[in-house]
Amino acid sequence: MSETILRYVPLDPNWQPSDEQSGQVVSLLKAMAPLAENVSGHFEDDVRFYDPGENWSGVKCPNCKADVEEWWGEAMDTAFASEFKNLSAEAPCCSTTVNLNGLDYVWPAAFGRFALEVLNPNMDDTTHEQDQQLAERLGTPLRKIWARY
Ligand SMILES: [Zn+2]
Repeated sequence: MSETILRYVPLDPNWQPSDEQSGQVVSLLKAMAPLAENVSGHFEDDVRFYDPGENWSGVKCPNCKADVEEWWGEAMDTAFASEFKNLSAEAPCCSTTVNLNGLDYVWPAAFGRFALEVLNPNMDDTTHEQDQQLAERLGTPLRKIWARY
């Protein structure tokens, strides 16, 4: 059976909340997604890449909008060798220095060490206001990713 996961990842890949902050924002998110199977905060030791699973729609250069998916695989391997501590790379299309977390992911994706996760939310989407409330409660801007596996 396929699973849907709604994730919120801090824009700063290294940022992590305290356990208390995580608990508070999980409660808030539970109230926003009452039909969800599970809502939880996930901490990681190292930065990881949160892909959107089957929703993946490619990746473009943020500077010139060229399709960079082929290059991206190699750039990910290089960055992974540094445990994603160094996310900067030179785009092949226009030689601009880009940050892998700042590429134009056609369907959102993100790097991070913390994610709020809603398993099978059973809802269409959250509102912009709700997204902002979550970011405010956590005290850091968030990127929203609807993933399907
Ligand atoms: Zn480019």
